[in-house]
Formats: sequence, C-alpha cells, structure tokens
Amino acid sequence: MSYLVLARKWRPKLFSEVVGQNHVVQALQNSILNEKINQAYIFNGTRGVGKTSIARILTKVLNCEDVKKGEPCDKCNQCLALNENSLIDFQEIDAASRRSREETMNLLETVPYLPASSKYKVYLIDEVHMLTKESFNALLKTLEEPPPHVIFMFATTEIEKVPATILSRCLQLNLRLVSEEEIIDQLSKIFIHENIKFDEASLKIISKAASGSMRDALTISEKVVSYCNEDLKKEDVQNVLGIPNEEKVFKLLDILKDKDTTALVNFFEDYDENDSCQNLLESLMNVIQEVSLLQFSKSQDSNLLKYTEMTPEYLQLIFQIGLSNKIYFESSSDPKGLLSMTLIKMIAFSPEEKKNSKVTSSNNFYKDSSFDWNLILNEIDLSVLLKQILFSSSVKKIDNKIIISLPEDKITRINEEYKKEISSCFNNYFNQILEISYDSNVEVDRTPLFIKDELKIKESNEAVDLISKDEGFKKITSELNTDIKNISKK
Ligand SMILES: [Zn+2]
Repeated sequence: MSYLVLARKWRPKLFSEVVGQNHVVQALQNSILNEKINQAYIFNGTRGVGKTSIARILTKVLNCEDVKKGEPCDKCNQCLALNENSLIDFQEIDAASRRSREETMNLLETVPYLPASSKYKVYLIDEVHMLTKESFNALLKTLEEPPPHVIFMFATTEIEKVPATILSRCLQLNLRLVSEEEIIDQLSKIFIHENIKFDEASLKIISKAASGSMRDALTISEKVVSYCNEDLKKEDVQNVLGIPNEEKVFKLLDILKDKDTTALVNFFEDYDENDSCQNLLESLMNVIQEVSLLQFSKSQDSNLLKYTEMTPEYLQLIFQIGLSNKIYFESSSDPKGLLSMTLIKMIAFSPEEKKNSKVTSSNNFYKDSSFDWNLILNEIDLSVLLKQILFSSSVKKIDNKIIISLPEDKITRINEEYKKEISSCFNNYFNQILEISYDSNVEVDRTPLFIKDELKIKESNEAVDLISKDEGFKKITSELNTDIKNISKK
C-alpha cells in the first residue's frame, strides 16, 4: 500500500460520505432539493473537518447532470472532471498564498465571463480570512451584485477575521469537531475495507490524537499503518505517536497524590530519553481531567478511583500549572528539565501541604475562631457586583447582629436594593433573622481583599520554604542547577 493513499482515497466524494457534519450536509441538501441556491457560502471550522471537501461536493451537485436526492451522480462528465481537478469552471484559491489586491482583482476579472461547460462557475477561496483589507473591498463589490452564473465558496479557520460586510452576504455554515466515536467508526470501516488488522485500543488512540480532525486521523493512520505493517497493536501505535504508556502517567499521578519527591527523583533517573516530555505532560493532564470529572460522577468502576481522594482544588491547580507550562515545550532545549520543574511546581503548590505545615497554623490571624468572613463571602449566594464591593469589607457577627464595615466610598454604593439582597442572603446563609448595620470602621487586615493578597504571598513563600528543605528536591535542584525562587515568581 502506498504512503499517501488513505487521506486521498477516503476523501468524501458524496454528501453521504462526509463524517460528523450532518447538520451542514442536511442544510445543503435541503437547499438543493428546494432549489434555493445561495451565491456565496462560507464554511467555518478548524482544520481537517471537511470544509473544502463539502465545498467540492456542493460544486459537483450544483453542476451535476444527474442529481439524485440532493446527491451528485459522481459519474457524469462534470462530476468526473471535478474529481480529477480538471473542471475549468471551478477555481480553488488558497488566500494564504494569494492575498494581494492585484491577485484578487485578476481573479475577479474572470467573474463576468460565462462558464465554459458548467451551469455555474465556482470560486472556492480557502483561508479567506488571510485576504488583505483591499482584497476584501474588491471582493465585496462583486458580492454585492454577482452575475447569476457565479457562486462563491469561502472556507476559514478564523471567521472572526472575516469582515462583517462579507459575512452578511454569505450563507454561513459552521462545521464542528468530529467526535472520537465518529472517527473510530469511520476508521474501522476504512481499515476493514483496506484489510488492515487493528485492535480497539489502537483506534481509540488514533482518534484521540486526531483532536476532532478526520483528515488528521487519516494522516496519522497512514503513518501508523506503514510502521505497524498493516497490523495495528496498541503498543506500536503508542510508539509511533510518541504517546507514553499509561503506567508512566499513573506513576506520575501517584507521585503527585503522595507528594513523593523521592519517587520523583527516581522517576527522572530512570527516564527514557526517547519519550516525549510534552506528550507525557499532555497525557498526565488528560488523566487529571478524567479524575476531576470522575469526582462529580457516581461511577465506582474506574481504575482512576483512588485518585479521587485528591481535592478538586488541587486537581484544578495542577491542571492549571500544566497548562501554563505546556507552551514552553516547543521552544525548550531541555524538555526533561522543564517537565521535572513543572512537576516540582505542582507538588510545591499543593494546598494540603500548606494546611499541614506549622507555618500556616500560626498565621490564622484573620480568623475569629468560628466566624471566617473570607470563607463566608466565598460561599454566600450574593450577586457578583455586590461580592466585589464586599471584598473590601470587614464583618463582625455578635449573636443575631451583623456589622458590615466598609470604606466610605464603598458604603455609599450599598443602596436599598443591595441592603435587601444582603439581608435575605445573610438570613438564608445563617438560617436566622439577622439585624444588619453598616459603618466605616473597616479593619483592613480582616478584609477578604487583604487576606487574599496576604495568602498569595505566604503561600508561595511557604511552599518554597517547605519544598527547598526536602532532600529529594535538593537533589533535583542541584542536578538541574535551577533556583526554585524563579518558579515562585512566575
Ligand atoms: Zn454528476
């Protein structure tokens, strides 16, 4: 089997062969059946989801000599010519490479001439958002009064860059990402047809790696098929795609769960240099995501169950750290170092670590034994605006009396409506009828605003402090010759 075959061979030639875009296909077929032809279409969607394929099928059906139920026959001269890229009345232009006004003008000059052999002359402009402002202006003039024999089709991955004046003259069709299930279905059909052996897990891995793009799924499949000699096995597919095996990912998650820096050191000592660090981080983040979702589901049937004991906040935090560090991998000359620093950061900023540390427990200066205003403001069901104002308040509660203290400029913003809201929300929260009064004697160091800032500083200092005393960490840092103070500044 030759290398380029799959993606080209399995490019859809009929509407019924398009995967995952039923809503768009149906709308187009209905308009064909009702003979409601637009003169400009714009296909919007990410790469490889079928924009230009659908545009080409639409061109065929518009010109086909024997349309059946909204599908081109794929046999007549018109259909065959388009399939073979020899249809004179069809022009496909990539705006990424031909975007100047002159080039657009040259193209538009051919618009008034009648089609050579077809019913319609079709101009398909791919990546239309790349056109210059001048080009768009020239195009707009034609779009305002197109000759009846001309149809424009535009495809774009960035519709927000297309001027509204152009958009308002087009029928906009939004293509969605193809789901993993749809990709799996299609791949299994293709593999069976091509006599390629595969296991379920391989299909899953390929469809995940394709991130919603059917074309990417086929390109990846070609690569994998030629490597695996037409017999796809999970391990081989993982190898080709540089996807780390699950065992490694779970090991990392164990390390994070137990905050086990010694295990982290061992992990990197045994690290296989052929593994892609970026892929490992991405796989780790995928699992973190799954664990987070699992915490909100009732499912007891998962190999991830033991990780649900990590708090939702911690999972959020490590996901966030992974996300913000991920972007550095492309430009990093030391991905292994970057990965290890990312993991150290994840451990260092663990909220549990701080709760248990002595440093923090002596710092509960902002807490009145049972009345934690910072926490209450977080939990209480107030409108966002009101919460923002109360962010700079300090609050006392004595029996059924609440005193809310605010800076002068903020007090004036508490109108009658807000007072009502505060009263009802506080009554609800404390489940008692409260007497609420307002004054301006703010205790600045008890306001959530102050506490938040203070916490931030303390948290990073404590985390740095705690982790720098750790033996495992000392070893890693000396190896990497990196100063953790740099991380905490980020
Ligand atoms: Zn035909």
